[in-house]
Amino acid sequence: MDNNKSFRNVRWFVIIIVLVFLSACAYGGALIYFDTDKYQNKAEFIDFASHELGKDRLLTANGSDDIEYTYDTPFSMAVRKDITLGDSVSNKESVLINSFISKCQLEAAKADQEEYKKKGDKFKTPERAIIIDTSVTESGTGAVSVAVYCKMYKAGTRKMELESSDIETLLLSEETYNSIEPIQALNITYKDRASQFVNKYFERTYSDDEFCEGWESYLDPDNDDNYENFIMTKEGIEFFFDEGTVIDKSYGVVSVDIPYFYMDYTIREAVIDRYIDPNKPMVAITYDDGPGDKSEKRILKCLEKNGSVATFFYVGYRVDDFAYNGKKAVEIGCEIGNHSWDHPPLTTCNKKQIRKQIGKTNDAIKEYIGVEPTLLRPPYGDFSDRVEKVADMPAILWTIDTLDWKTRNPKKIFKSVKNTKHLDGKIILMHSIYDETADATEKIVPWLKKQGIQTVTVSELIKYKTGEMPKVKVYRTFKK
Ligand code: ZN
Repeated sequence: MDNNKSFRNVRWFVIIIVLVFLSACAYGGALIYFDTDKYQNKAEFIDFASHELGKDRLLTANGSDDIEYTYDTPFSMAVRKDITLGDSVSNKESVLINSFISKCQLEAAKADQEEYKKKGDKFKTPERAIIIDTSVTESGTGAVSVAVYCKMYKAGTRKMELESSDIETLLLSEETYNSIEPIQALNITYKDRASQFVNKYFERTYSDDEFCEGWESYLDPDNDDNYENFIMTKEGIEFFFDEGTVIDKSYGVVSVDIPYFYMDYTIREAVIDRYIDPNKPMVAITYDDGPGDKSEKRILKCLEKNGSVATFFYVGYRVDDFAYNGKKAVEIGCEIGNHSWDHPPLTTCNKKQIRKQIGKTNDAIKEYIGVEPTLLRPPYGDFSDRVEKVADMPAILWTIDTLDWKTRNPKKIFKSVKNTKHLDGKIILMHSIYDETADATEKIVPWLKKQGIQTVTVSELIKYKTGEMPKVKVYRTFKK
C-alpha cells in the first residue's frame, strides 16, 4: 500500500517538472526542439520530401527527376512525374495522380473527423505530407506499365509518421498508348502461376504473426480483382499488394518480383496491339478441328492482314504436324484452345478417358506451340456436368453455327454471319481445315471490320462481357 502511494507521488512530481519545462520551451519559442524531423517551412519540407522520394524507391524509374513541391497547410505535397513516352501517357498518368490525390485527401479528412469527434474543441488538424512517385516501365513485349505510388505522412510529436501507402498501376500498349487489359499482355493462367510463387515467397519472407487476418483471399487466383496491380519490366513482373491486406499494415504496400522464366507459358510474345473498345460491339470467331494445313495458313494470313484475331480449338493428335500454324496464330494474338485428342463425344468417355483426351492435348499444345490452353471446346458440343467436373476447364460452345463443314459453300457461310442481327457478344463456329472456310473467312473478316465490329478471342470476350476471367462452366453467348 505504502509503496504504491509513494510511486504515485513520484509520478506526479515528474509530470509537473515536464509541464514546467514544456511551458518554458513554448514561451521561449523553442518547441521546435520536439519537432526535429518535422518540417517547419518550405525548405524543410523539400528536404523531407526529397529524402522520402529517394529512399526505398519501389519502382524502376527511367525518366526525369522533375519534382513539384506544394507547401501548404494542412497538406503539403511532392509529386515526381516520370514520363518518357509522350503526352498520351502523361495525360493518363495525370488522371491517375489526380484521383490518387483526391483519395488521399479524403482519407486524411476522414481521419481528422474521427479525431475531432474524440477530442472536440481541443482538436487541431495535424500537418500532412503526401508524397507521390510515378514511374513508366517498358517490358520489351509491347506493354508499358504506369505506376503511381503514394505515401501519406502525418506530423507526430517528434517526426512525420507514415500514415498510409497505396499504389495503382495501369497497362498501356506501347504502340498506341491505349490502356490494355492484363490478358492482352498475359495469358489468363498468369494468375495461377503468380499465386504459386507469391504464396511461397510470403511464407518464406514473413513470420506467421505478420500475416493479416484473411490474407489468403488476397492471394486467391480465382478472385477477379487479385493480381491486377502489377508492372511489367524487362526482367519480370512485379505484383503489388495493398497495405494491410496480406502483410501487416506497418510494412505498407508490399511487392513481389517474379522473373519471366518462372511465368512460363503465361507471357504473350507480343502484346496484342489492337485496342479493344469495351463500348463497341465484339465477336469471337472460333475455328475447330485444326491445326490445319493450307486452309488455316490462309485464314491466319487474312486475320493478320485485317488486324483481327480468332480462337483455334485444336485436336491434339494433329498438333505436332502443323505446329507452325499454331505458333503463327499465337504470334498474331490468337488464342489456342483444347478440342480433345481425337474428337470423341466426351459424354461417351469414362473419367480416365476424358482426362487423357484433355491432358494429352494440353501437353502437346504446350510442347509444340508453347502456350497453355485454358479453354475447352467439347467435340460436337457434347457436354455434361460429369464431363465438366472431370475436364475442369471452361467449356466454350457457340452462338452462330455457320455449318461450314456441311455446306462447304463460302457464300452460305458468309451469309450465316451477315444475316445474324446484333452480332455483339456472339461466338461464331467454323472449322479451319476446309478451303471453303478460308474463302468465307476472307469475306467475313473484312466485312466485320467495315461494320465496326471488333474481333476478340474467346477469353477476351468473356472478360469484357462478364467482367470476369473465364470460369469452369459453359459459355455460349453474351448479352450487353
Ligand atoms: Zn470438332
